[in-house]
Amino acid sequence: MDKEQKKKLKAQHKKNEQDEIRASIPMSVDELKELLSFLNRESAPECDHTLKETIEFLKSKQLNPEVVIPWLVEHGGFCDCEVIYNVYDDVGDIVGWHLDGNS
Ligand SMILES: [Zn+2]
Repeated sequence: MDKEQKKKLKAQHKKNEQDEIRASIPMSVDELKELLSFLNRESAPECDHTLKETIEFLKSKQLNPEVVIPWLVEHGGFCDCEVIYNVYDDVGDIVGWHLDGNS
């Protein structure tokens, strides 16, 4: 296999992974984006190592926490701040939400 081919395969692999994650998101991409912005808002309380804020958001959107939380945990989101950092790592590109740009 030459270098070019390897590169292509790698890119394809990354794309497949993202497609898989995108397909597995238990809410709309817009809602996920909103969740990240909500958790990252300036007036957000300091994380108390629970998913309190996340659950509040899910309920306000009529999303079922019992469905969404296992998915968040799978992506490293064990508490509100970890959702911003770990889940964001996996889905930032997919939802087009970026911590720096904050948009
Ligand atoms: Zn935390």
